Amino acid sequence: MYDIAIIGAGASGLAASIFAKKENRNIDVVLFDRADRVGKKIATSGNGQCNITNATPDISRYHGDPTFAKKVIDNFPPAEQQRFFEECGIMLNFENSGKAYPMSYQASSVVDALRFRAAELGVEIKTSCRVESVSKKENGFSVKYEGGCVTAKNVIVAAGGIAGGNLGSEDGYNVLKSFGHKVTSLRPAIVQLKSNEPFIRSLKGVKLFAKLTARSGKNTYSADPSDFLFTDYGISGPAVLSLSSHYKEGEKFSVFADLLPDSNEEKTCKFLSFKRAAFGNRTADELFAGLVHKKIGIELVKLAKIAPSSKIGDISDEKIKSLASLVHNLPFNITGTNGMKNAQVTAGGVDTKDFCADTMMSKLHDGLFATGEVLNVDGDCGGFNLCFAWASGKAAGIAAAKRVGK
Ligand SMILES: Cc1cc2nc3c(=O)[nH]c(=O)nc-3n(C[C@H](O)[C@H](O)[C@H](O)COP(=O)(O)OP(=O)(O)OC[C@H]3O[C@@H](n4cnc5c(N)ncnc54)[C@H](O)[C@@H]3O)c2cc1C
Repeated sequence: MYDIAIIGAGASGLAASIFAKKENRNIDVVLFDRADRVGKKIATSGNGQCNITNATPDISRYHGDPTFAKKVIDNFPPAEQQRFFEECGIMLNFENSGKAYPMSYQASSVVDALRFRAAELGVEIKTSCRVESVSKKENGFSVKYEGGCVTAKNVIVAAGGIAGGNLGSEDGYNVLKSFGHKVTSLRPAIVQLKSNEPFIRSLKGVKLFAKLTARSGKNTYSADPSDFLFTDYGISGPAVLSLSSHYKEGEKFSVFADLLPDSNEEKTCKFLSFKRAAFGNRTADELFAGLVHKKIGIELVKLAKIAPSSKIGDISDEKIKSLASLVHNLPFNITGTNGMKNAQVTAGGVDTKDFCADTMMSKLHDGLFATGEVLNVDGDCGGFNLCFAWASGKAAGIAAAKRVGK
């Protein structure tokens, strides 16, 4: 009988295995992954660079059950996470924005460091081994996987969420449901947004720096200025990914882009009036030249119902005002997301009220633990999800090892 069986060798499962063995070298820990290699999602994270954690994991950065997330992270804050990674041989670089990356900026180096550390500590790693079900047995659990079955005194469900196409899995939810745990509705988060604004298609591929705000009902959400991209289906970029966590199907959701975040409406209005006076003979499609991308400039002019071939000098004061307003508040009606397949994170998950934040142990079944994305916690874009995965993995690993008492 194993002391601990961990389902999923991703971020939280690898962390759990390392901390369990650090807590007690004498225990037997087995780590299953259905993939042929461990940590596949970590390897693709942060565009292959792995935004490993964040210096300020404030409660406002988490959704689902942010209070639970905060408690878990307070027990393993970023400075301690940094020490843990140093112990594993990885130096972190905290950027001014708070985002942290491995100094190598290579996600694969994070996977290697964790994989080596787990193996050195004596964790038994079983890849290409999909756990199909877990059932209760006297003194522990029976863990059935494709091709076999093991028994374990403790089980940590670290199987992640369903986001990310082939990298996702429903298995963790199903195992926990079989023990009576509730799963909330699941939604894609950190995902591109679809919009039906007619001007979007002609702007496909255009990238600019913008500040985005989203509105849904009485709520307003804003994101830091960042790259903003037009696609054939809608909009993308770091701020869009962040704001996507607030999108709920069936609720009206609008995004507003300030295309000149370093200026303001009044200044822009004055500058457009100056251009009208100075370049009155030029055509309206030239009005925004030198201010925003040419293609966007033309679409703004069309949106204000001005013919692009008309003269700049003929644009009325009222139209100048509405153009200035548009450039600082370009509205996008959001019609959906780019789906779970393209999402980085699953919003929703296993109800945290049935888990203890200090240990990650189920309140319904002693010896059963859950960590990471399978739980109803999702963070913003910026290293917040991995931050929660490491912290919840650590708590579960240590608590499960303590229960063994060898
Ligand atoms: C493209 C992309 C980029 C991302 N970039 C970042 C980033 O830069 N920063 C950040 O903070 N977050 C990022 N995320 C999110 C982050 O990677 C996840 O939130 C985090 O990995 C979740 O950790 P976890 O341990 O819960 O699950 P995972 O890391 O997903 O690990 C779960 C593991 O369980 C295995 N598994 C599933 N079912 C079974 C089964 N039945 N039997 C055995 N094994 C099973 C899976 O193969 C997987 O290896 C990104 C996600 C994606 C998809």
